[in-house]
Amino acid sequence: MKNLRILLITIIVIVSWNPPVSAETIDTSREYKETIGRHIQFYLSNDIHLGMHDALEAFRSGHFSSSDYSVINFGIGSKPVWLALQVRNSGHGSAHRNLLFETAWLDKIDIYFLQGDQLINSYHVGDSLLFSKRPLNHRFFVAGHLFEQGETTVLIRVESPDPMVLPIYFMNTENITDRNALQGYSYGFLYGVILALIAYNFMLYIGLRSSHHLFYSIYLLSFLITNAAYTGHGYQWLWPESPQWQSWSNPVLMLTYSVSGLVFAIHFLNIKRSFPRIYRMVIGSCMIFGALLLLAILTASHEAALLISFTFVFFFSSFMIVLGVIALQAGNKFAKYFLLASISAVCGAAITAAAVWGFIPFNLFTYRAVDIGMMADAILLALALAERLNISQQEKLLAEKMAGIDSLTNLNNRRSFYKFVKPIWAMGLRNKSSTSVIMMDIDNFKLFNDNYGHALGDRVLVQLAETLQKEARTGDILARWGGEEFIIFLPETQLADAMTLADRLRKKIAAIQLTTANKKKISFTSSFGVAQTSDGNISLDELISQADQQLYYAKKRGRNCVCSELSC
Ligand code: GH3
Ligand code: MG
Ligand code: MG
Repeated sequence: MKNLRILLITIIVIVSWNPPVSAETIDTSREYKETIGRHIQFYLSNDIHLGMHDALEAFRSGHFSSSDYSVINFGIGSKPVWLALQVRNSGHGSAHRNLLFETAWLDKIDIYFLQGDQLINSYHVGDSLLFSKRPLNHRFFVAGHLFEQGETTVLIRVESPDPMVLPIYFMNTENITDRNALQGYSYGFLYGVILALIAYNFMLYIGLRSSHHLFYSIYLLSFLITNAAYTGHGYQWLWPESPQWQSWSNPVLMLTYSVSGLVFAIHFLNIKRSFPRIYRMVIGSCMIFGALLLLAILTASHEAALLISFTFVFFFSSFMIVLGVIALQAGNKFAKYFLLASISAVCGAAITAAAVWGFIPFNLFTYRAVDIGMMADAILLALALAERLNISQQEKLLAEKMAGIDSLTNLNNRRSFYKFVKPIWAMGLRNKSSTSVIMMDIDNFKLFNDNYGHALGDRVLVQLAETLQKEARTGDILARWGGEEFIIFLPETQLADAMTLADRLRKKIAAIQLTTANKKKISFTSSFGVAQTSDGNISLDELISQADQQLYYAKKRGRNCVCSELSC
């Protein structure tokens, strides 16, 4: 029993005892697919001029610390850092391996390979140097070395005010090439999608003169350039001869990207008109941050510039969502898409910024989150813009239709009467078919209005229009000609048939009964004039005026009757 207790206690002590982890030596016979942060020890010296020999001394006397993370991250504005790792080659020959630093923005990286105290190989790379001076044409930094048998100490000094995040890989050249190709495909896809959307939206802007599409393509373009800048594609392809611009490109472009996103949001959601105070606030903060960044650039403070632009990215991210929410609450039809798009972009941007800044672990997912988010954002916003185009087209069509419709009776007005009748009239002329027109006018309507009020007069007009619509044949064209005057155009109709129809309408109208406010039943009558084309020699307006003339005769005859050349 006692032995068992001792055993148990021993097990607990062994299990709970954490030996001070010392970074494990890298072995050239092994393959390292992931970052090797846990094999690296680091040293943040107060002496920024600490040389390689002093660093080696510090490493050997145990002043370096082990890392708990596979990606070491010291955040923005870090002091220069020394890293050390041991590499063992226990094989028979020498082995060529590379150290790959997958952070494109590091200013200065000095890499020393030592056997014993002897310096065998060294590299001085970083994006503060000309791209063309790089030992390898790669957007990241690669230091290749032929590891001889035995132990090699690698000492690395990194200096950069930018986020000092250090995803370091230990790989043979073949694996580096594969890795680069795979990343190349994924960026090719991302840039392809974004470029296609930029071109498409720019065309829409040219074609439709709609500024939303212009602001959207500018937003996408600034995302693209920002992304190219911080991934190292910009320095590799776009500005390899400008280390000066390379050193400021990240803060400047991040701010540009955020501002262009806000400008697009403000336009797309119509914030200026709906929320003028918020509009002024957004524009004001863009200007303040812009001025602060300018000040940081003028005083050559990289650290301040980065803090300003990173802070603005967080501000931008939260504001895009706030703008989406308030526009949604205000009933903006497109805010739903916008909000969804912004949430995905913003989550992506925030995750990447937080990973780079050192708040959350840095890995492939957290580093590429902004790309995934932006891709979703771009696609959702393209949908939103298409929806907007669709709706505004529909509204335009509706407005056009409404412009031709009388709002009280829902009948055509004079304008749309002509629009519909003209082609039929032309066809009738060609076919030499007979066409008739009925003109009608309510009898003593002025008196009716005077006796029962204008509101009831309006109800009369509505009821009458409904009756006309119900009774008219398909193909007949009905319109409110003026106040209480209506017209019916009857293609391919002889005068006698038109008169029959007019008389039927007259009876139906006379049968309409309305109830007044004091429950009195009232009805009304109307008079009709009918005319027909005799030989196709008269114009449409002449035909209408003949029908009007007959209407005049009907009024003269005592109203509530139908007049034409045939009878009155
Ligand atoms: P007649 O039998 O000779 O046609 O006499 P009338 O009183 O109907 O003709 P007049 O042209 O003198 O008056 C037409 C009236 O129609 C005058 C106007 O107040 C009325 N009116 C025109 N448009 C509207 C309308 O939209 N609503 C109402 N309630 N009344 C209207
Ligand atoms: Mg009248
Ligand atoms: Mg009248």
